[in-house]
Amino acid sequence: MDLTTLERLPLWIGGKAVAANTTRYGDVTNPATGEVIRHVPFASAADVDRAVQAAREALPAWRSAPSLRRARVLMRFRELLDAHRKDLSRLITQEHGKTLVDAEGEVTRGMEVVEFAMGIPHLQKGEHSENVGTGVDAYSIRQPVGVCVGITPFNFPAMVPMWMFPVALACGNTFVLKPSERDPTTALRLAELLQEAGLPDGVFNVVHGDREAVDALLVHPDVKAISFVGSTPIARHVYETGTQHGKRVQALGGAKNHAIVMPDADLPFAVEAIVGAGYGSAGERCMAIATVVAVGEVGDRLVAALAERARRVSTGNGTTDVEMGPVITRAARERIVGLIDRGCEEGARIVVDGRRIRVAGHENGFFVGPTLFDRVEPGHTIYREEIFGPVLGVVRVDSLEEAIALVNRNPYANGVALFTRSGHAARRFQEEIEVGMVGINVPIPVPMAFYSFGGWRSSLFGDLHVHGMDGVRFYTRGKAVTARWPDDGSAAPGFHMPLMG
Ligand code: NAD
Repeated sequence: MDLTTLERLPLWIGGKAVAANTTRYGDVTNPATGEVIRHVPFASAADVDRAVQAAREALPAWRSAPSLRRARVLMRFRELLDAHRKDLSRLITQEHGKTLVDAEGEVTRGMEVVEFAMGIPHLQKGEHSENVGTGVDAYSIRQPVGVCVGITPFNFPAMVPMWMFPVALACGNTFVLKPSERDPTTALRLAELLQEAGLPDGVFNVVHGDREAVDALLVHPDVKAISFVGSTPIARHVYETGTQHGKRVQALGGAKNHAIVMPDADLPFAVEAIVGAGYGSAGERCMAIATVVAVGEVGDRLVAALAERARRVSTGNGTTDVEMGPVITRAARERIVGLIDRGCEEGARIVVDGRRIRVAGHENGFFVGPTLFDRVEPGHTIYREEIFGPVLGVVRVDSLEEAIALVNRNPYANGVALFTRSGHAARRFQEEIEVGMVGINVPIPVPMAFYSFGGWRSSLFGDLHVHGMDGVRFYTRGKAVTARWPDDGSAAPGFHMPLMG
């Protein structure tokens, strides 16, 4: 199937592309040109039910397949991802707008989760104790939970789904993915590659859609676990509705990440790191730096250096040799420009203004240039709201203590970074900062696949983070077995509470 020229995208159910049973469709645009390139169906509750039933039917055989067999499918999938990394990256850039290099980076980070999940025969092992009582053994096993669902955002159309389904499938679950309707095609390519890798039909399914499809998944009686990544209001909705309907839910929400710069930091290093982390992927990363906290006398030097570097960021079509592409939609562009207007009105000082950027030959593209504010205050809208665009704001404070208190008061707590040469300051920061992912001279501290990814406070609802061992725990249920094999004539347990030993 040539997915790149399809007018109306299909769903992927039971191992094949099928038309949605809907009259509602959305536009998928190329953000660099503004052109509508295909249409995405908004699946109905009946479509969702078809996908869940396919996953339910495929479950018994898949969950009882030896874990090595499941791992081998993932090994072949990993090889196919590697072989197709260029065409996957082109598809991501076409629908999302990020640069090709960045798109390839997200495919690689997704592949690393597949590599982690390939170790499932070891990861899913339980524990065993011999003779917990006389002739009694005890052991624990971790079993798959059943049909699992992934609901994912537009900003990582390959990586975020791959935070979820490789681990879920490895553990013996079947899966329904509801990718973002703004860049939906990569999910279908991943489905095709999984099939080519030997995944049995129905184990992995894709439904496209909006709230109607999501809400149908949240209440479907055969869905057992839901992983969500997206904005905080929707994460809260997914968590509350899903848990009210008896499902296990992890819902990762929005972010507003701070980078604290100490007076002793290596300034050129910190500036390059912050500019890349603030403007890379046009600021559309949940781990992007949004706020720079300048401590003490570093403020003026830092703002001057950030401004100088921000003005040199090359912006254009992600298929060309640029550092930054467009934002996802015209509506996103308008929202970001509106928030920059608001920052100016509320008294922050605009130092670099990206509102009027023009990219030659791409007059209809959704571009916002790198924007830098100084003298941002915690009460300003641009400090409080997640902008999700290429906008950095500098807040000035007098001490590390004040910087830590500022970060700890923020409702979001996804990522944070400190730039310093002082081990003492770094250690104090690591201990006192109340944020899920912490970087020390590392601007975007995204944990590797074998650790787990997740924020605190309004950046995550639920207990377990994604991928790594938390992923294995999320996609399995623990069971503890106590067993004895009595000889004929052994005394049977009595009425009292059984005591071992
Ligand atoms: P979004 O919340 O608009 O959409 C996420 C998913 O929810 C999509 O699949 C979408 O179709 C669905 N959805 C949208 N509106 C819905 C509704 N009313 N009811 C039910 N479902 C709905 O997010 P987005 O704009 O695609 O992505 C950007 C957001 O995701 C940012 O807030 C970003 O911080 C966040 N994000 C967080 C992480 C993280 O790990 N914490 C990672 C990536 C992105």
